Amino acid sequence: MARGAVVRLKRGHEQRARTHPWIFKGDVADVADVTPGEAVTIRDAGGRFVARGVFNPRPALCCRILTWTDELIDTAFVARRIDAALAARAPRAPSESGRLVWSEADGLPGLVVDRYGPVVVIQCGTLGMARLRTDVVAALRSRLGDVAVMSMDDATMAGLEGFAPATGWFDRPGPDDVVVDEHGVRLAVRPGSGHKTGLYLDQADNRARVAHGTGPGAALDVFAYTGGFACHALRAGAARAVCVESSPDAGAAARRNFELNGFSGRAEVRPVNAFDELRRLDRARERFDLVVLDPPPFARGRTALADALRGYKEINLRALRLLSPGGRLATFSCSHHVDEGVFERTVREAADDAGVRLRVLERLGQAADHPVLLTVPETRYLKGLLLQAL
Ligand code: SAH
Repeated sequence: MARGAVVRLKRGHEQRARTHPWIFKGDVADVADVTPGEAVTIRDAGGRFVARGVFNPRPALCCRILTWTDELIDTAFVARRIDAALAARAPRAPSESGRLVWSEADGLPGLVVDRYGPVVVIQCGTLGMARLRTDVVAALRSRLGDVAVMSMDDATMAGLEGFAPATGWFDRPGPDDVVVDEHGVRLAVRPGSGHKTGLYLDQADNRARVAHGTGPGAALDVFAYTGGFACHALRAGAARAVCVESSPDAGAAARRNFELNGFSGRAEVRPVNAFDELRRLDRARERFDLVVLDPPPFARGRTALADALRGYKEINLRALRLLSPGGRLATFSCSHHVDEGVFERTVREAADDAGVRLRVLERLGQAADHPVLLTVPETRYLKGLLLQAL
């Protein structure tokens, strides 16, 4: 690090920077000796040390704090942070999957590391983290053994930050196809393809929890991706499961997962639009003991919020009409712009319109390996309700 690289904050802007790792251009009074993507010292208007981070003049979110201690951001720092992230997670069997490092929540903003058995997928979302990639891989291998490493940077984030997204095997190739064990269900992952880094690991615990107590009726898994919720419901005793998923690739992967678990005869995938299918199922008077609604983020920005809420209300209203007496609905939102209160109110309005009385069995969030920081509310994004029709 150039010792002189300094980001000086405007007067009054240091308060937030003491607990939250994001510094925007509007917070900055001036910068000196900075190199894009390199470490900087953040000082308050009076020149006092606040934190250390990495700086990039390109995006509005120009600086991310990595430490509030006066320490170097170097190979040893990265190794200490990775150690802490691994220590915070329960030991895993080698065939398991899970998130090992989650960005701000693990003190490594811009870095996601997910494990799928013998493969580790890393995603760098900032220029600063992309430059530390080699240190990240070295630290992971020294703790996990000689795992195969796949890079899967997000092209949009890389474009915003101004670096070439890395995709593909980091150095040597690993397996094309991995089968992981998720709370007793086998799920196939093709490293480097699919959504997120392969699986929606944030829903891993919920998939097992929601399925627990599933009776011998039918389950409907809407926005199913590779059918994880359906697989867990079938394992827990559902007689049959219907998946609704518009992506043909995801649908094919769901069928593969049914096969891997011996569920093919009891499960089907409908490659159709969820909104249309929910309406059609209601008209056909089909009823289900468990309905799961796990849509993509409808609200990508604040302006789209009203439309998004209409979308959430509509799918929840229709799903509620499909429940058998005593049936359960697991409903989720992963939109950052829809908080827990707004989400709950929207589902309540849907219940009022549908005339269905509901018991809250559980309030759900993201899996424990996606920890939440109280002072960084952006780390809490997945909200869910497990409800039972009375
Ligand atoms: N429940 C899944 C994750 C769902 S992610 C799991 O546990 O793994 C949301 C999924 O909804 C994506 O796979 C996406 O392809 C699908 N999708 C998006 N819009 C859709 C629509 N209108 N109809 C059906 N599927 C849709």
